[in-house]
Amino acid sequence: MSEDTWPECKECTTGSLLPLSDFGSQGAAIHYKAWVCSNPSCGFNIKIRNGDVYLNEPIASGASHSPRVR
Ligand SMILES: [Zn+2]
Repeated sequence: MSEDTWPECKECTTGSLLPLSDFGSQGAAIHYKAWVCSNPSCGFNIKIRNGDVYLNEPIASGASHSPRVR
């Protein structure tokens, strides 16, 4: 398996699961903390937090941070 080949999403079978990394409170990188489907209309995701695995949590779109118009 080459490095640029990601596992196929089993949910929609059209997207790929992309590994996402995060940074801990100490600034240390947490590699492959979450896997998210590359298909926006699918949104399948799996992530680990404090040793627990979370499946298909809603993805924050950032829309709640919409800039205020003066
Ligand atoms: Zn998918």
